[in-house]
Amino acid sequence: ETGGLDPVGATPMMAQYIEIKAANPDCLLFYRMGDFYELFFADAEIASRALGIVLTKRGKHAGSEIPMCGVPVDRADDYLSRLIALGHRVAVCEQTEDPAEAKKRGPKSVVRREVVRLVTPGTITEDRLLDPASANLLLAIGRQKASESGFVYGLAAIDISTGRFSLSEVPAGELPGAIARHDPREIVLSEAIHADPALARLWQDTRAAIVPLAQAELEPAAAERRIRDQYGVSTLDGFGRFTRAEIAAAGTGLLYIARTQLAARAPLAVPSRGETGATLAIDAATRANLELTRTLSGERTGSLLATIDRTVTANGARLLAEHLAGPLTDLTRIARRQEAVARLVEDPALRQSCREALASAPDLPRALSRIGLGRAGPRDLAAIRDSLAAASTIAETLSAAPELPAALAEIGRALSGVDPELARTLTAALADELPLSRRDGGFVRQGFLAEIDEARLLGQDSRKVVAALQARYAEETGCRTLRIKHNNLLGYFIEVPQSIGEACLKGLQKEFVHRQTMVDAMRFTSVELGELERKISGAADRALALESEVFDDLAGAVVSASASLGAVAEALASLDVAQSHAAMAVEGDWRRPVVDDSLSFAISGGRHPVVEAALRRTGEPFIANDCDLSGEGRGRIRLITGPNMGGKSTFLRQNALIVVLAQMGAFVPATSAQIGRVDRLFSRVGAADDLARGQSTFMVEMVETAAILNQATRRSLVILDEIGRGTATFDGLSIAWACLEHLHEANACRALFATHFHELTALGDRLARIDNATLKVAEHRGGVVFLHEVVPGIAERSYGLQVARLAGLPASVVSRAGAILKSLEKSQGGRSARARIDDLPLFATLSPPPPPEPTPEPVDDSVALMLDGIDPDSLTPREALEALYRLKRER
Ligand code: ADP
Repeated sequence: ETGGLDPVGATPMMAQYIEIKAANPDCLLFYRMGDFYELFFADAEIASRALGIVLTKRGKHAGSEIPMCGVPVDRADDYLSRLIALGHRVAVCEQTEDPAEAKKRGPKSVVRREVVRLVTPGTITEDRLLDPASANLLLAIGRQKASESGFVYGLAAIDISTGRFSLSEVPAGELPGAIARHDPREIVLSEAIHADPALARLWQDTRAAIVPLAQAELEPAAAERRIRDQYGVSTLDGFGRFTRAEIAAAGTGLLYIARTQLAARAPLAVPSRGETGATLAIDAATRANLELTRTLSGERTGSLLATIDRTVTANGARLLAEHLAGPLTDLTRIARRQEAVARLVEDPALRQSCREALASAPDLPRALSRIGLGRAGPRDLAAIRDSLAAASTIAETLSAAPELPAALAEIGRALSGVDPELARTLTAALADELPLSRRDGGFVRQGFLAEIDEARLLGQDSRKVVAALQARYAEETGCRTLRIKHNNLLGYFIEVPQSIGEACLKGLQKEFVHRQTMVDAMRFTSVELGELERKISGAADRALALESEVFDDLAGAVVSASASLGAVAEALASLDVAQSHAAMAVEGDWRRPVVDDSLSFAISGGRHPVVEAALRRTGEPFIANDCDLSGEGRGRIRLITGPNMGGKSTFLRQNALIVVLAQMGAFVPATSAQIGRVDRLFSRVGAADDLARGQSTFMVEMVETAAILNQATRRSLVILDEIGRGTATFDGLSIAWACLEHLHEANACRALFATHFHELTALGDRLARIDNATLKVAEHRGGVVFLHEVVPGIAERSYGLQVARLAGLPASVVSRAGAILKSLEKSQGGRSARARIDDLPLFATLSPPPPPEPTPEPVDDSVALMLDGIDPDSLTPREALEALYRLKRER
């Protein structure tokens, strides 16, 4: 297999290239040639297009020219990161011997080259390739048959840039949500999982790069062995219990990491086990819809995460994102986090000093990981030194603070858990100014090691040493014209003019060895000079070699302290997250929510953090709103009607966001909040037309709604915004109605349901735990002012025309629409749609079995009924046309 390229007849170099490329068919091959990495054939075409660099040619192969492009080695990181961002994988192939060695083998032999590393989106470690504020996860997936019909999935989430490694198991139905929570850059799995038709859509929708591995490599026994090898243990018992699916996932992940890192072994933490149910379940659609970590258009700015992020370290920013992606359900853990935040809110001085010390702490976990991989530079050692300095400052501050809550006390303990000797050594050893690479030398502080100082001195002061020797020889031989000189042929030598006296020459010949006689000068060497020669020319090399030893010693000391350093990193991150929450709470006047085991949900003075922040910039006030969904032992549903632009969506989302914030341990934008622990959070928005996705948006909406009705429990919070909007009015109304009934009777959850189907408000009178709310509007000279205030009751009108006018629809169109509306309203006759819905049989009793879908009963005047069901303001032109056809048919 040579990737379609025939090595026969190739130049020796091309033959080598073809062989290496054949071994790495799914990577772009960066082939080292002097100061460049060069790409050939199809790789060159792909890379030149992706990077916008010139495509040229180099020689011929099989009769045609070889396309080629190159990137300079010293700027390779830049190009790598762009290729990685586009989802490519790159094999970096280096020269692994001195070209001089190759020459010795014969004039035609090629320098030995090897792929030293595969660079893939999920396995990068270089700071320049990584986003400091987000984790860079590789997600490995394994599975295990759980029953006749189904599988359970094991997930291994690995961040080799920080060493984080966690394992979990989920049933098939929760796989999409779990993947969304991890938000991986790369997913590695077996070919069987990849080819499973039930999961095809999942792989299609994710933004991660997908790498299927052959089944044969993923035998269960091999997986266990790989884990044992990674941690150097003979049994996995010490790690706690892992399921077979989890072990399969871990084995897959480790195999892939070994393959990409080749020589180096990634320093990974012992896998921690994420318990099922320990985090608030949030599926992919809900995450996207609530814009938790990025907005619907994919940016970080404008997301909840960006709005609340007051962290001062990259490490803390990543942990904040992780907490936000997986809020807790365990009340004790939530309370622990809250206590730390509360203490930092109450104690501004403590908060300030923690914040300042944290701000000086570099990215410890990533430095630690590079050191473990043998890919570190002097600045990584300095990162350890500076982190330890920050840690000890904070530990002192914390130990001076009285009555610390448990979480902060534990942080203090972890921060002082590293042997102080390491910090002392690093401080003593590292210079103030540090080069990027250890090969540059000069990073060991003067005075740290006498031999290094000596070697450096010799290198730097060689001129002085030579001058001193010259003076001594002149003195001893009495030959004042004696000079010590240097050339490439002889190295250092002693030179005297031919004109010196006989006596002088005798003396010289006795002391020194004659080397050369020139027209007007004679040259000698001495044993001493020869030694000096060796010392001087070796000095620089020697200094470098000694520094390199120091580097290895320091790196070794760091690696052996990696467990306690890892704990320091974690403690720094936790403290940063706590101070970020505290800073946000103080800044926004946020309050500590009560999270308990009840089913209540009582928010007063709630705000939407992102909308509020946006409004603050324009100087407009945000109107706070209460929300009470506490039902007696079962949830309550609030049905919200109101004009477009009234603030329905904002109100819905703010309550979901408050839950996320509360359960991640943060304070919330409300004057008070009592939240009975939520187990699952659902948020859906009725489909707007989105042709780009290709699938019927209404279909998507229904699939997603089905997931809610099937999965929501009494502990869940459901937010539905305009469900049923994506289809014809009657269909939409009936579906929305049936969903509401199901949520009320079967799911019995807490829910907020925004709709423009005013007919639905009739259900408020008939289902005990549904009540109606609307957004207050003030009318003013035919125009409207949205007050954004949620009040009990039903929207009187939809104000579609007013919104249309605000939006700039031509005045003639608005007034014509007004006339049409009047006549439509008149023709509606005595019986309103609402009255007719009151006639419908009530959703019989509790499910199961599921009730028949209620449909409006036929009435005499079917045209009038149809007209009643039409809300002209909410129809798309196409729906309007369809409605018209239906009306005509009915006549
Ligand atoms: P709807 O869903 O009813 O169409 P939105 O929730 O999208 O309305 O709100 C429309 C706009 O009104 C928002 O972009 C925001 O600027 C403003 N708004 C919404 N709620 C509030 C509020 N409580 N206080 C102030 N402005 C608000």
